Amino acid sequence: MQAKINVGTTGYDRWKSDQFRRLQLKKYAIYLAVFHYFMTALHAKLLTNEQTYLNTKSSLIKTSMAKTVYTFGDGKAEGNASMRNLLGGKGANLAEMNLLGMPVPPGFTITTEVCNEYTQYGRDKVVADIKPEVEKAIASVEALTGNKFDDPTNPLLVSVRSGARASMPGMMDTVLNLGMNDATVATMAEKSGNPRFAWDSYRRFVQMYGDVVLGMKPKNKTDIDPFEEIMDKVKEEKGVKFDNELEVEDLQELVKRFKAAVKEYTGKDFPDSAWEQLWGGICAVFDSWMNERAILYRRMNQIPEEWGTAVNVQAMVYGNMGDNSATGVAFSRDAATGENLFNGEYLINAQGEDVVAGIRTPQQITVEGSRRWAALQGITEEERAAKYPSLEETMPALAAELIDTAHRLEDYYKDMQDMEFTIQDGKLWMLQTRNGKRTGAAMVKIAMDLLRAGEIDEKTALLRIEPQKLDELLHPVFDKEALKKAKVVAKGLPASPGAATGQIVFQADDAEAWSEQGKKVVLVRIETSPEDLRGMAVAQGILTMRGGMTSHAAVVARGMGKCCVSGAGEIVVDYKAKTVTMDGKVYNEGDWISLNGSTGDVYDGEVRTTEPELDGDFGEVMELSNKYAKTLVRTNADTPRDATQARRFGAQGIGLCRTEHMFFEGDRIKAVREMILSSDLEGRRVALAKLLPMQRGDFEGIFEAMDGFGVTVRLLDPPLHEFVPHTEAAQKEMADEMGISAEEVKAKVESLEEFNPMLGHRGCRLGITFPEITEMQARAIIEAAINCKRKGIEVHPEIMVPLVGTLKELQHQANIINITAAKVFDEQGETVDYKVGTMIEVPRAALTANQIAEVADFFSFGTNDLTQMTFGYSRDDAPKFLKHYKEVGILKVDPFEVLDQEGVGQLVRMGVEKGRATKPELKVGICGEHGGEPSSVKFCANLGMNYVSCSPFRVPIARVAAAQAAIEA
Ligand code: PEP
Ligand code: MG
Repeated sequence: MQAKINVGTTGYDRWKSDQFRRLQLKKYAIYLAVFHYFMTALHAKLLTNEQTYLNTKSSLIKTSMAKTVYTFGDGKAEGNASMRNLLGGKGANLAEMNLLGMPVPPGFTITTEVCNEYTQYGRDKVVADIKPEVEKAIASVEALTGNKFDDPTNPLLVSVRSGARASMPGMMDTVLNLGMNDATVATMAEKSGNPRFAWDSYRRFVQMYGDVVLGMKPKNKTDIDPFEEIMDKVKEEKGVKFDNELEVEDLQELVKRFKAAVKEYTGKDFPDSAWEQLWGGICAVFDSWMNERAILYRRMNQIPEEWGTAVNVQAMVYGNMGDNSATGVAFSRDAATGENLFNGEYLINAQGEDVVAGIRTPQQITVEGSRRWAALQGITEEERAAKYPSLEETMPALAAELIDTAHRLEDYYKDMQDMEFTIQDGKLWMLQTRNGKRTGAAMVKIAMDLLRAGEIDEKTALLRIEPQKLDELLHPVFDKEALKKAKVVAKGLPASPGAATGQIVFQADDAEAWSEQGKKVVLVRIETSPEDLRGMAVAQGILTMRGGMTSHAAVVARGMGKCCVSGAGEIVVDYKAKTVTMDGKVYNEGDWISLNGSTGDVYDGEVRTTEPELDGDFGEVMELSNKYAKTLVRTNADTPRDATQARRFGAQGIGLCRTEHMFFEGDRIKAVREMILSSDLEGRRVALAKLLPMQRGDFEGIFEAMDGFGVTVRLLDPPLHEFVPHTEAAQKEMADEMGISAEEVKAKVESLEEFNPMLGHRGCRLGITFPEITEMQARAIIEAAINCKRKGIEVHPEIMVPLVGTLKELQHQANIINITAAKVFDEQGETVDYKVGTMIEVPRAALTANQIAEVADFFSFGTNDLTQMTFGYSRDDAPKFLKHYKEVGILKVDPFEVLDQEGVGQLVRMGVEKGRATKPELKVGICGEHGGEPSSVKFCANLGMNYVSCSPFRVPIARVAAAQAAIEA
């Protein structure tokens, strides 16, 4: 998950008045809603015209689609693992598993290119285009299975599943048992000698097809699924609790009622033709590429829309054929901790969706896993062995075959595998394998374990680290002492590690709304579904009543690195009443709880957290990064505390110390205000004299923390009006402090008001109009450096001038700095080496970098302002429209988060090249927020920058990204 980025807050008021901004955003949202209403009407009209245009266009375009369908089966395949872009991850690996001789039901994959055609030209054209190839592929599956599609006497039934290039668990649609109708169900019942199995498959098919293809879903979040409602009714009439207690007649009744409901909903009979069903299924999978949750998931994981999804059609195998059948999910290593321990879950006599949906309690595959699980659940060994035996106990030979297959797959792919399998009447079938999603901790451990085992080399191990995911390892864990006192009120499965504490909410929408108000929330659900993704993304943690380690909640939470406790079976969640009962206590929405995703414990109230450990495998990844990286990673830190934190994370110096941030704490703001409000030089000097020792003290702390490393201190850069007091009370306080009238203060505040403060009197413009400020700051830096040097600390001060656009501006400020330094050296009888450089953050500075380099010892690219000024997007106001821009595809990402290499990047490149043309030894870095974003770090490293600088918590991320850039170069 992408961490929220603070786009360089420079102002005190901005820092203080979040609430006000939110209010403004709310007003804006109302305005947008009204605007949206009118636009929708207009859009509907335009769309009709656009559609006509598209249809005309599509009929005119003669697309020459290449091969669109790839078959596999019986040890042969037209595709292979390297064709992931075309066949999607699932399709490519199904092909490869066939080639490896593993038992895979035969089938075929429709390529991702077809999905793009579908999105562009629509259903009719695409169906017509691929029909011949699909028909041929079905014939090849018929030949391999000996069954016939759309044949009531010997039916071939298939599954239709999505499969994109990057795995998107649960985000798209699947239809199983496709090809069934009233005639085939009778044949299946007769052939299998198991009418219950046949009818159970049929009712599942009607239900799934109705939901996925015909769109019969709950209308809103608290409604129950229309099919579940019918099911509950039938169970109630029958007086049973579980699905598997229903008998053949009940299942027949269910099919009847499901079909009636479909007829009522769609106005049409449920389709009997297998071909009609197949095209419905294929198109539904393509449609699901553009469903809301898939779009959201892609946005969160930066998966391009153009990738499209493939569709996999495969002969059905059945895990619900009786007690000799089963289905499950397995991992070759532990996806939560990374431990080298095969694990997984299965259900006897069930179909795939039963395992992930959390409807029945899944059992563990290995005895060891089963015992661990039972211990966590507080279940005795006798009860475990009787009620929840492992697959190793129930079907030992098949368990051994599965474990062996898993090892072979991991050996082949050299990475942890996440597999789906089905056992049909005593035979194992592999339905999927992929590199498994894992937590940040597991990612690091697995990469290092594989390296130590000699399976992969150092470079591969480093490339296995998703830099952004390291973020999870840097965040707090529960404080051990606080944890001892905390009361455990429930226990579930440790589905995704981490510590979470927050207020209870029950709906994803509420999670979003509450977190927008700045609240920390824990999302509590009976079970999660892909619709809950938004809520999961903003919650601190997720607690579910149902669902195992492979439930949707668990898989998605692990992917996001979000703390999750799943399957806490003892808790009782009531959505309508908005309560959850745990250990006899009723918790309401808004009550605090804490989750330990590593143990599965749920605690009452808020439990304190502390800093994480950073050695072990994590430390080794960091060392390896240093070995390969050619670009240093500095940090943006304004206080000795942040500087010390950043050193722990391995920062190799400070790339940006924003001196205005040093004034936010305590009483310091008053001295700054006094300086700003003074009407003459005299008054300003008095105020500056108060600020000098504060700054010097902080600089000393920072130099000490960065002993031996470079420290870039930037001169003051605040839009002035943001530092002045706006409320009457604050103005009165300042008036008393300065011995002037409140009216005078008010008048001065008004005089400092700017229409466009971000482009106003800030940066070096301030130091040029008030040179005494630069003088004071230069003095504080040099004096601090000398004091530290005297204490034996190695200091390398670099004084940086902000917002320079012309050479003359830099010359002006450099003069003051050099004169002040000389003065201090003289006074102190001691010298230090120092550098004077500049930010490159105004486009003109990049354009004239060759001139500016004549004076500058170093450049630091301020890509926050450079992005603001290149796009012309105000940093403060852009979030209001950028969200929409991303939604409609004008921008793929927020350019304040990810450097726009195409546009802003040109200025950066030009700045580096022109600067070094004048001064080849020019030191160059970046200190905008992009300095911690992996793709931007790689861009800067490739330009030959000496360093990138980012906030302390992103230092490890940038270190790995820098190493990867060097490896990939
Ligand atoms: C920048 O503009 O990129 C920068 C680092 O400065 P600030 O964010 O403080 O404006
Ligand atoms: Mg800036």
